[in-house]
Amino acid sequence: MAKVIINVQKCKGCLLCLNFCPKGLIKKSKKLNLRSLNYVEFDPQGECLGCLQCAVVCPECCIEIRE
Ligand code: SF4
Ligand code: SF4
Repeated sequence: MAKVIINVQKCKGCLLCLNFCPKGLIKKSKKLNLRSLNYVEFDPQGECLGCLQCAVVCPECCIEIRE
C-alpha cells in the first residue's frame, strides 16, 4: 500500500488534491501552517491506490507518494 507524505508548510490549501483523490483520502485540516493557511492531511487509515493523481495536480508539489 502506498504512503502519502504531504509537506504541510508548502501547502496553500487550494483543495485540488482533495477533489481528485478517487478514494477521498485527503482531508482539510482544522489546523493552520506557519503561513496561516489551512493545509490538507492524508488519512493514514485509508488504503491509498498509489495512483499519483493528488501529487500530479498539486501546483505546489507538496505531495510525495512512496510505495
Ligand atoms: S495517490 Fe491516489 S489514492 Fe492515494 S491519496 Fe493520492 S489520489 Fe488518493
Ligand atoms: S493541491 Fe497541494 S497546495 Fe493544494 S491543498 Fe493539495 S497539497 Fe495543498
